[in-house]
Amino acid sequence: MSVRIRPDLDRLPGYVPGRTVPGAIKLASNEVSLGPLPSVVEAITRAGTEVNRYPDTAASALVERLSERLEVAPGRLAVGCGSVTLCQQLVQATCTEANEVIFAWRSFEAYPIIAQVSNARQVRVPLTAEYTLDLPAMAAAVTPATRLVFVCTPNNPTGPAVRRAELERFLDSVPSDVVVVLDEAYREFVTDPEVPDGLELARERDNVVVLRTFSKAYGLAGLRVGYAVATPVVAEALRKVYIPFSVNSVAQAAAVASLDAADELLARCQGIVAERERVRSELLSLGYEVPETQANFVWLALGERTEAFNEHCLDNKVVVRAFAGDGARVTVSTPEENDVFLAAARSFLS
Ligand code: PMP
Repeated sequence: MSVRIRPDLDRLPGYVPGRTVPGAIKLASNEVSLGPLPSVVEAITRAGTEVNRYPDTAASALVERLSERLEVAPGRLAVGCGSVTLCQQLVQATCTEANEVIFAWRSFEAYPIIAQVSNARQVRVPLTAEYTLDLPAMAAAVTPATRLVFVCTPNNPTGPAVRRAELERFLDSVPSDVVVVLDEAYREFVTDPEVPDGLELARERDNVVVLRTFSKAYGLAGLRVGYAVATPVVAEALRKVYIPFSVNSVAQAAAVASLDAADELLARCQGIVAERERVRSELLSLGYEVPETQANFVWLALGERTEAFNEHCLDNKVVVRAFAGDGARVTVSTPEENDVFLAAARSFLS
């Protein structure tokens, strides 16, 4: 007799990570291409000498540093093993099988997986024709069973961010007992002044939770650290469903060292932003459909040409993230790597 696995897992696609192909440039996971700063490597090395001990499960030093930097009380913070784990903790903390999680589609690939694994019902609301979140439709989808709404801003994989007026209208129309998660994994790349800082909204409204990560702008994707800013009630619930010790001690030390070097790391993002505008305008001039983006990636709406584009990029030693039949998401990297990608995008058309 074979072991019995939950039958619904047969229908679960599983998360597909961006591929690493030897010898090819990886533009598939929205990482920064530059390695950690020497000061961060030093902190990692130092923390490495103490890994015989369990980490501080409360991540006190990191929470204290975040509290100072963000000007929020430590009791309003929760850390997680990457912000993706916090997405799961949020669903676990708010939903039973009778409840619904609303998110846009297409959006972050992990939302439907997390909803299913956590036994919550999922409601997907299509994006607008401009690849933005359709917030009025998302608000209209709320029912008495809704407990959580993911608002991914900027939206992965399409790029646009939600602007202040429409977000405030949305928040006004959602019942205050529904948690609205502003998933701001790419916040540090936002340049549009109309895009609000989620932290301001989280300070004003008890049902708003902001998720941020050290994986993108801070360059620590391999170490897995994210955090949530929420009301004390929600933050405490997040800590309750936290798997003990899941943010390891090396990751905590690296995150603290990265906050110490925040100015330098965030300055690096400005170079990526400049490249983002160059890459997008070049793609537009080649005739690709590329929505406005506030993140460190661009979305090419390729429809049925997506697979062929993906293969062509691979032949040209560039790994992009393809979503069959829909489009390709391409991380903005250094000027040199972006040039290799742009050459591939150009030759695809010829
Ligand atoms: N939210 C969004 C929108 C993302 O794109 C990602 C990473 N792809 C995450 C959350 C999770 O990031 P991490 O777990 O590395 O913090």
